[in-house]
Amino acid sequence: MPGNSHVVVVGAGIIGASLAWHLVRAGARVTIVEAGAAGGVATSNSFGWLNASWGNPEPYFRLRIRSMTEWRRLEREVPGLPVSWSGGLIWDLPPDKLADFAREHAAWGYGIRSVDRKEAARLEPQLADAPEFVLHVAEEGVAEPLATSRALMAAAVAAGAKLLEGRSVTSIRIGTHGVSGVETDAGPIEADMVAVAAGVETPSMLATAGVKLPLSTPPGMLVVSRPHRRLLDGLVMAPELHMRQTADGRLVAGGDFEGNVPSKNIAAAAATLFSAMQRMLRAGEELSLERHLLGHRPVPGDGFPAVGAASGVEGLYVAVMHSGMTLAPAVGRFLAEEMLGGRREPLLSPYGLERFAGVEASASTTV
Ligand SMILES: Cc1cc2nc3c(=O)[nH]c(=O)nc-3n(C[C@H](O)[C@H](O)[C@H](O)COP(=O)(O)OP(=O)(O)OC[C@H]3O[C@@H](n4cnc5c(N)ncnc54)[C@H](O)[C@@H]3O)c2cc1C
Repeated sequence: MPGNSHVVVVGAGIIGASLAWHLVRAGARVTIVEAGAAGGVATSNSFGWLNASWGNPEPYFRLRIRSMTEWRRLEREVPGLPVSWSGGLIWDLPPDKLADFAREHAAWGYGIRSVDRKEAARLEPQLADAPEFVLHVAEEGVAEPLATSRALMAAAVAAGAKLLEGRSVTSIRIGTHGVSGVETDAGPIEADMVAVAAGVETPSMLATAGVKLPLSTPPGMLVVSRPHRRLLDGLVMAPELHMRQTADGRLVAGGDFEGNVPSKNIAAAAATLFSAMQRMLRAGEELSLERHLLGHRPVPGDGFPAVGAASGVEGLYVAVMHSGMTLAPAVGRFLAEEMLGGRREPLLSPYGLERFAGVEASASTTV
């Protein structure tokens, strides 16, 4: 497909922003249609950890670690992205599993090493306590989710993409030869190709083209403190919560309550999470809660990304996944190459939509 195709991207979260950037840089005419404001929904509630840690089959590790390299490329292409590479301490697995994870990922080339309590205290002196066996991963980092997503979208717009905010796509239009554009609440938009990067709304959007995608939407909570003097240098991944400190001094903690964030007493759940963070820090009692956020992760049926052509509808593409902060640069680049050049990146080969053929679509929002 020639580079001057008109592509509509549905959704301006981190995935839509990355896709738009890579498409426009490759010469496509790009229109992004966003129901709300640029930045995203899952993206604005994200913790922002860039990593290739735990629970990975090797092909998924390879995609994630490649995406961390792609973040560094994006930082060069879009100067000023709020991305940092602080490294982090990890002990959010039982010790035997933590040891297995370290052995396996070190063998795959991940910059991971064991540290004892003393070394952990040297790396993070404000931690109230750390267990005797902790891992340190030097190459992990953070992308401030909303700011990064907006900056990437602004760069795509500066490079020639057109962003329509406050405009909802109501359906995908199908012509005799496949996709012909989208219908929106303010009229149709013609396009040669459509890419759906609509986060948790992806299945309902695809359904308008007769494409099924199973997706679950487990909740996760973040609590954010008011700005404070520096207490953490890097990421801390403990069993109770994950935490980090932003460049402007806010402490952020994330917890998933094992997928059961209480829907009726969210403020109480936030207070519990915030107290847990305070207990983990020597000066924790000095912190005060500024706000809490409750988000839903877009998780395709088997837990892995769904990226590529929607089979049966020529010109229709999809990109939806958990870990989208980590994966956005690689997915945006590879999908743009596939859409414009017809080349499927081998690292994406396990993540095509064809694996869901015959699986019933579902979208469950727990809260
Ligand atoms: C609590 C939490 C913590 C997380 N932590 C991490 C982490 O540490 N590291 C990591 O890598 N990932 C993390 N994630 C996952 C990551 O945030 C997501 O994978 C990523 O943000 C998804 O981005 P997206 O662009 O696909 O979706 P979104 O950000 O949701 O963007 C989709 C956009 O599509 C728009 N849209 C929807 N329907 C329509 C329509 N009909 N018309 C027009 N626009 C539409 C929406 O308004 C939205 O702006 C976390 C997620 C959550 C919720």
